[in-house]
Amino acid sequence: MALIVGLTGGIGSGKTAASDYLASLGITIVDADVVAREVVEPGQPALAQIEAHFGREVILPSGHLDRATLRDIVFANPEQRKILEQITHPAIGAAIIAQLQAATSPYSVLASPLLLETSQHQMVKRVLLIDVPEEIQIARTTARDGVPEKQVKSIMAAQMPRQDKLARAHDIISNTGSLAALHQNLHQQHLNYLRIAQHHES
Ligand code: ATP
Repeated sequence: MALIVGLTGGIGSGKTAASDYLASLGITIVDADVVAREVVEPGQPALAQIEAHFGREVILPSGHLDRATLRDIVFANPEQRKILEQITHPAIGAAIIAQLQAATSPYSVLASPLLLETSQHQMVKRVLLIDVPEEIQIARTTARDGVPEKQVKSIMAAQMPRQDKLARAHDIISNTGSLAALHQNLHQQHLNYLRIAQHHES
C-alpha cells in the first residue's frame, strides 16, 4: 500500500480545512467520520447486527439507524456501549482499509479526530497534527456551529490533551494564521510527503 498519513487535531482545529486543501491537490482523503456513518447505512451488515442486539426500536421507519435512541441507550450503559463498539469498530476499520487500498494518489490521508485515541494510528506511517491553542478552537467552533462555549469546552475535555497530541505527532502545522497561510504550510508538507512516498515501501 502507498504511504498513508494520518491527519488529526482537536475540535475546530482545521482538519476539514486541511483535508479539503490536500484533496484539491489530488490526494485521496479517507474520512473516518464519514466511514463511521457509511457502515451503518441500511443494508450494511453492521446495521443488521445493531438491530439484532438492540432491537427494532433503534431503527427508524425509513430503515435508517435512530442515532438519538441508540445514543441514549449507550450513554447510560457502558457495557452496551462496548457491545456497540464491538460491532462498529471492526466494520469501520475494514472499510477504512478497503478505501485506503483503493487509493491511487502518491500518498493518501486518513483524517480522523480520534486517530491517536483509537487503533487507527496503527494504520498510518506518519501523524500530521493540525494545532491551534484552545482559545482559537473555541472561537472558531462557536462561530462555525453557533453553539455555546460551554459545549465546545466539554467536547475538548473529552479529547486527548493538546500537549499529548503534540508529543505524538511526527509533523505539526500550526493553524493560527489565515487560511492562505494554512494552505502554504500544507503545500510544503505535501511536497515532503511526495518525497517520502517515492522511497516508501509497504
Ligand atoms: P471538527 O473536529 O469540529 O470537525 P475541524 O478540525 O474539521 O473541526 P474545521 O471545520 O476545518 O475544523 O475548522 C473549524 C472552523 O474554523 C471552520 O469554520 C473553518 O472554516 C475555520 N477555519 C479553519 N482554519 C481557519 C483559518 N486558518 N482561518 C480562519 N478560519 C479557519
